[in-house]
Amino acid sequence: MQIRDPGAILKNAGFRATKPRLLLLELLEKSHTPLSIHDIVAKLINDDIDRVTVYRSIEAFVRIGVVREVDFQGQLARYELPDTEYDHHHIVCTKCHKIEDFIGCDVERIEKKALHQSRSFSRISSHSFDLYGLCNSCA
Ligand SMILES: [Zn+2]
Ligand SMILES: [Zn+2]
Repeated sequence: MQIRDPGAILKNAGFRATKPRLLLLELLEKSHTPLSIHDIVAKLINDDIDRVTVYRSIEAFVRIGVVREVDFQGQLARYELPDTEYDHHHIVCTKCHKIEDFIGCDVERIEKKALHQSRSFSRISSHSFDLYGLCNSCA
């Protein structure tokens, strides 16, 4: 997995590189699963960053696509950095909410099928797709 530079991400998006923004992106970059706002606040509060700043930054980042919001069937929204290299998706445990990434959803085949059936669309620009099941400890 390619390591993304939080400073460069902010610069490209036209944000000033403040400490809270840098730490927030660094946290998401290092995390192996998408984090809820509670996870993020809990981790950043140690660095003296207040809750309101975290909420505002996340909101602004999501709006311009620097951060991706993912929602899993009625769970709290979670946040991650969007894919640059791999198109990844999630497997979610319906009991303990453990989340794992998987790569390769065969989207081209599905897009073709969808467009073939559609009467109103001729182009697909993005997709979202998650799998649900029980993890080994819950099964
Ligand atoms: Zn589980
Ligand atoms: Zn995909």
